[in-house]
Amino acid sequence: MPRRNWNRFVSRYKILSKTVRGNIIVLVAPSGAGKTTLANKLLEDFENIRFSVSATTRSIRNNEVHGKDYYFLSEDEFQEKIEAGEFLEWEEFYNGIRYGTLKSDVEKMRDNGYYVLLDIEVLGAVNIKKIYGQQALTIFIKPPSLEVLEKRLTDRGTESEQTLKTRLDRAKKELSYENRFDKVVINDDLNHAYSKLKTMISGFMNKN
Ligand code: ADP
Ligand code: 5GP
Repeated sequence: MPRRNWNRFVSRYKILSKTVRGNIIVLVAPSGAGKTTLANKLLEDFENIRFSVSATTRSIRNNEVHGKDYYFLSEDEFQEKIEAGEFLEWEEFYNGIRYGTLKSDVEKMRDNGYYVLLDIEVLGAVNIKKIYGQQALTIFIKPPSLEVLEKRLTDRGTESEQTLKTRLDRAKKELSYENRFDKVVINDDLNHAYSKLKTMISGFMNKN
């Protein structure tokens, strides 16, 4: 059997047999570095990866869907989940806007044999690594420069002047976290970055 088909066979066997718990893959980066773009490509290519949908108190963007991109919650709903211990981790990102990873969703997907993909900011990723250790692969997605990051965020067209500035200020700090993670991928040319990312993830899957 060709190797690609064999890998598919093995991953399907793991999912269907539910004998192996899936591990965690974290994409972490300053806002605008390309996590969402890369995550979507991974989800298209790897049938054994599922996306962990986070909860957030930020408002929904035009192209987003509740339950697919995020669970969009009110302040009170988010606070109730904190108090009920439903988050693996949560962080305030800017201006009181909070984001959190839901424990039950992640564990359910792992129980079903899937690798779980998280797209989260640096502090949350550090916490996930503390919780899961070797069972988590944390990959820092680095923009080629701050100028490119600014251009990507501006061109994405999702930010006001104020939120763009806040995100860029935060990005400057987040870039100094690079060496806290297992791997780094520079997202210059998208195809090149994606190919490196795929190789890292395949290596992690073969070890775990
Ligand atoms: P993040 O999820 O990290 O905030 P996105 O995936 O939304 O970032 O990417 C930010 C913007 O940059 C998007 O408009 C996306 O299409 C674009 N983008 C992502 N990667 C690249 C790349 N390698 N080259 C050029 N543009 C990119
Ligand atoms: P955005 O508003 O651009 O969708 O996300 C802002 C930042 O919050 C991004 O860096 C994103 O990765 C991060 N984020 C999304 N979900 C979570 C989460 O569950 N926990 C943490 N800590 N950060 C998150």
